[in-house]
Amino acid sequence: MRYQDIPGLSHVKNHLVKSVQSGKVHHAQLFSGKEGALNLQLALAYAMYLHCENRTQDACGTCPACLKSVKHVHPDTHFVFPVSNIKNEKDAEKFKAEILKQWRSFLLEEPIGNFDDWTNYYGGENKQAIISKESSRDIIRNLALRPFESLFKVMIIWKPESMHASASNGILKILEEPANNTVFILVSNAADQLLPTILSRTQQIKVPLLSDDELEEELTKRTECDSSKISKIVQQAEGNLNLALRLTDSAENGYEETFTNWMRTCYERKYGELVQLAEEFHGYDKLDQKNFLNYSLNSLREVILELADAGQIHRSRDQELKFVQDFSKIMSIPKVDKATRLVNDAGYYLERNGSAKMIFLDLSLQLSNIINPK
Ligand SMILES: [Zn+2]
Repeated sequence: MRYQDIPGLSHVKNHLVKSVQSGKVHHAQLFSGKEGALNLQLALAYAMYLHCENRTQDACGTCPACLKSVKHVHPDTHFVFPVSNIKNEKDAEKFKAEILKQWRSFLLEEPIGNFDDWTNYYGGENKQAIISKESSRDIIRNLALRPFESLFKVMIIWKPESMHASASNGILKILEEPANNTVFILVSNAADQLLPTILSRTQQIKVPLLSDDELEEELTKRTECDSSKISKIVQQAEGNLNLALRLTDSAENGYEETFTNWMRTCYERKYGELVQLAEEFHGYDKLDQKNFLNYSLNSLREVILELADAGQIHRSRDQELKFVQDFSKIMSIPKVDKATRLVNDAGYYLERNGSAKMIFLDLSLQLSNIINPK
């Protein structure tokens, strides 16, 4: 990934280019941003730039180093990232090789993927994903080697906030005694959760979310949506490109209609139809099920805002707004709170690989009882 492949952020990109051109590459940098910031993408572009043999204002994209960076297989770029379901010691080496392969394909196939996307990609569980003590040992082992092909050895640590305490301590020691030409890039969405001792040893590069204009331009390039739909999505996504693209999908997937129909069926207590709907949801792929639940949570949030009489600040429009207003008439804030909790729980059970059909059916019956109690 090159700088030019990342929308916006010209200020940060310029800063990074200048620091390399003037030979002031800090050995430990923290690319911090809110959820949805393109800080991992920027770290990848920066690593590619550092390795490039013909760099100007951006990596050339065609030299041997760039060709490897594009595929995320440059031997001097190392990755550390959180995973769950780490196998026992005997299988550890095999697992490591396999998960690294998956990580590289994930970066290629979902270049702006977030933590959820990664978990779905390799089939793990968010709640248990950590950077283990073993990973920090690997880092130390890697650091003992000289760079193979590049002037720099780059170590990208994604989500350092998920480091196991013993891994943090290992990393801390390395940051204290930097090896020559090694560049650590910590890529965090929760820098406030990092140890102060780690923070104080890194140079912080703040990566802002995209502006509405930048997001709008990007969506126009990437999607088929018309301008009114795009401006609606831009308002909802608040600078988060990943979320914006998911919202585009949900608009295209007709979540709005499905959700309205589902709630109506719950209200009418049509159990036969609820069973059919549960089967329909069961047929969605895992990511789609999750996206649909997220869409449901957003809609419930709109209902809360409507009930709290904050209607003027909420973001739904047109058809959606009509549904929110109608639905609010039969709901109350405690009811929506309960419904929200149930939808959240359903997401949790799905993540733990429960049967989607049973989860959605159970959820539908409980929602019926809340929306239209007997
Ligand atoms: Zn190059």
